[in-house]
Amino acid sequence: MGGSIANPLPRTIPPARLARASARLAAGSPPWSIRLTSAGYWQCVGTRYRCPVDSPLIVEPGQQAVRTVYRDAALADGTGPELRVGMSILVASDRIEWVGETGDEPPLAADTVVVDASGSTVIAGMVDSHSHLTLPGGAHWVDHGFDPPQQLVEVAETNARLLRSAGVRWARDVGSPMGDDPIDGRHQALALGVRDRWSGRREYPYVRAAGCWVSRAGSLPAGLSVDVEDGDGLVAAAAGQLDDGADFVKLYLDGPDRETSPFTVSEVRAVVEVAHARGARVTAHSGMLPGARVGAEAGVDSLEHGFQLDSDVVALMAANNVALVSTLAVLESWRSFSRTTTLPRFVEPPRRADIAARREWAHESVRLAARAGVLVAAGTDFGGGSLRANQLAWEVECLVTAGLEPWQALAAATRNGGQLLGEPDAGIIRQGGPADLVFVHGDPLSDPAALWRVWLVT
Ligand SMILES: [Zn+2]
Repeated sequence: MGGSIANPLPRTIPPARLARASARLAAGSPPWSIRLTSAGYWQCVGTRYRCPVDSPLIVEPGQQAVRTVYRDAALADGTGPELRVGMSILVASDRIEWVGETGDEPPLAADTVVVDASGSTVIAGMVDSHSHLTLPGGAHWVDHGFDPPQQLVEVAETNARLLRSAGVRWARDVGSPMGDDPIDGRHQALALGVRDRWSGRREYPYVRAAGCWVSRAGSLPAGLSVDVEDGDGLVAAAAGQLDDGADFVKLYLDGPDRETSPFTVSEVRAVVEVAHARGARVTAHSGMLPGARVGAEAGVDSLEHGFQLDSDVVALMAANNVALVSTLAVLESWRSFSRTTTLPRFVEPPRRADIAARREWAHESVRLAARAGVLVAAGTDFGGGSLRANQLAWEVECLVTAGLEPWQALAAATRNGGQLLGEPDAGIIRQGGPADLVFVHGDPLSDPAALWRVWLVT
């Protein structure tokens, strides 16, 4: 009987005590087991050693994997409005070995750990389709783009813990500042080094990253993005991000003049062709209608925010397979800042009216897109906007407020994000797939607020 245990949060269990616990388990006579205590801790039976459930024990590879069956949960997978109750999921070696009705469980090996999941609902680990891992968010979010690289990389570590505790397993990073990576020394978008260092470590989110924003000079604060002057510069800058290792390209289609797209359809199409030829996708920030129209016509793979869409643009999106990444909660958080801050841009009545109008159009845009058959994926914009990394549930609530059915909103935060990324394992629960499971209390198919009540993340 083998298996050693490492804890991703060494502050919880001092390393020396953990080593003693591991040795004791390795030497002990089987079957040993791990149980979930009523206080919300994992505990090795027969020992005093335990850790919080949001930092699951990690069984090192080799010898014998621990099997766990999560028994008698409800299951919501975002494929329809029906909650399936009385379900069990058997997990072995971090993979889903079996999923079905509790009464049909296959014979369990003697060392299988049984977790009573009754009363909870299991969903797939969520996908935040619009995130900025290196930035902290909050009402002063823009200022933090200029924090030192060391600080930004440390922020990413904090965000990883926030994401996991909220049940978000995939982060699609749509922009990070350039800088000298404090760990590997490379000069590049800082999220790329973060992504590489987290790769293959289950305690971290899976990351796909766009590198740095590519924009027309004057669109974003100087020094934050890779600024270009024309279409040739746009293609070169996009290719440069892919050369650095970006998984996809992030363009900025709001320009210095808000009423005019900063690039033409043919300029954007040239970027799409270059990226697609290299197997990469292209997404575009779009807060205003003119850029949305250009992006949809040029056939980018997705529009971010899409706060100002109309029926012509959503028809183009549907025809050209352009997904929408919604970030409605950004506007909701700005509304809340009129009460929680003294910042004039949120507090002054004309600005509040402006935010309210933008919110109305943004909700209408989501409705139009969904009705037209456009794929809708949910994002927080945490870091690059004002939300924090553990608030994807807020976006799901906003999508329901905008008019989506709760199951559609759940799909936006799970399987649709996987589809947007082209990752078949992201945001779904299937036999043979990774055991990225989130257990919440409540029924997310009738009440999206259930997603705030995370009990267990595996
Ligand atoms: Zn953003």
